[in-house]
Amino acid sequence: MAFGPQPRRHTRAVTIGGVQVGGSAPVVVQSMTNTDTADVASTTKQVAELWRAGSELVRVTVNTPEAAAAVPRIVDKLAMMGLSVPIIGDFHYNGHQLLTGEPACAEALAKYRINPGNVGFGKKKDTQFATLIEFAIKYGKPVRIGANWGSLDQALAARLMDENHALAEPLDAAEVLREALIRSALDSAQRAVELGLPAERIVLSAKVSGVQELVAVYREMARRSDFALHLGLTEAGIGSKGIVASSAALGVLLQEGIGDTIRISLTPEPGQSRTTEVIVAQELLQTMGLRAFTPMVTACPGCGRTTSTFFQELAKKVQEHVRAKMPEWKITHPGAENLTLAVMGCVVNGPGESRHANIGISLPGTGEAPSAPVFEDGEKTVTLRGEHIADEFVALIDRYVEKRYGAAGPG
Ligand code: SF4
Repeated sequence: MAFGPQPRRHTRAVTIGGVQVGGSAPVVVQSMTNTDTADVASTTKQVAELWRAGSELVRVTVNTPEAAAAVPRIVDKLAMMGLSVPIIGDFHYNGHQLLTGEPACAEALAKYRINPGNVGFGKKKDTQFATLIEFAIKYGKPVRIGANWGSLDQALAARLMDENHALAEPLDAAEVLREALIRSALDSAQRAVELGLPAERIVLSAKVSGVQELVAVYREMARRSDFALHLGLTEAGIGSKGIVASSAALGVLLQEGIGDTIRISLTPEPGQSRTTEVIVAQELLQTMGLRAFTPMVTACPGCGRTTSTFFQELAKKVQEHVRAKMPEWKITHPGAENLTLAVMGCVVNGPGESRHANIGISLPGTGEAPSAPVFEDGEKTVTLRGEHIADEFVALIDRYVEKRYGAAGPG
């Protein structure tokens, strides 16, 4: 079996506010605010935080006339801060009215997200969907047709259920509902194309909250279409559960070459920064070897051989240091995001793992001599001792980055 992820499945490239999704572009990281969009100051602040953390696209909900009116002001404020963040508007139920009432919002947004399950009901569904697509055509914007398990098109689901019952060998209900979700996205995309929206301006998603269901749904979407795909496990949950479930589902799909942009839908813990979802998305792509964003720190879990918390503190300090430096290094030291670091707790695996990193340190375990050898590109360069090991190691990292990724370019 071949090593590494399968080649990316071919998809149509879509440009969203200057950011390419699909085609030959790397997998794009996106996120969504949880502020009241009508609150211009707090939404602008959070969009800026998400952008600075590395979110390449940021979605905001557009749910009221006040929110729609706020969007152009948010985009202007970001521009005044020197941030050209592509903002995506998330519409449900009343998007057709909001864009009609606030054309400046339609113009300011970089993309519209349309949920085919709640764009309208009964006879109004088609006309309201068409209104949104007409705005996208008029202003030259891409759209995401984003179906969701929690707001499945009930009329379509009921029709497919009826058709299934009439079969000699009916499928089980879960399979029919998965098919309804996929068809909701694919049929709506087809309708948008018939209305005149180029296929190169359509991104598709069909989100569910179960890992196995998500994998099955996206494999099928990828088999049946060449639209760019937005991956995300909806309502993934809080804390480690949300991170693990999202990573498990998206990891399988990305390994199969499926997915052009990702969002990790985490429920923030009280007081937790919204940017966690961006960091998790970046770490998922980086640990899979798909993209590099920030130097990665390999650290051992610790065990009874290292009873002090010093090495845990050092691993944290190193990770925080390189993450904080990366925005600057991105400009001054391109390539530094590929740096690998190791912080190890004792002599058992410490020297070996440190030799595999660009720069690594092997701290003394309990009962070992109080010295910490440092390795650079596999060679021991110095041994640190005493009170200032942490600061000295961080300084060595900066020196290494300067030397390897400085003005002279990567070594
Ligand atoms: S490197 Fe040493 S301290 Fe770390 S887990 Fe292994 S044996 Fe334990």
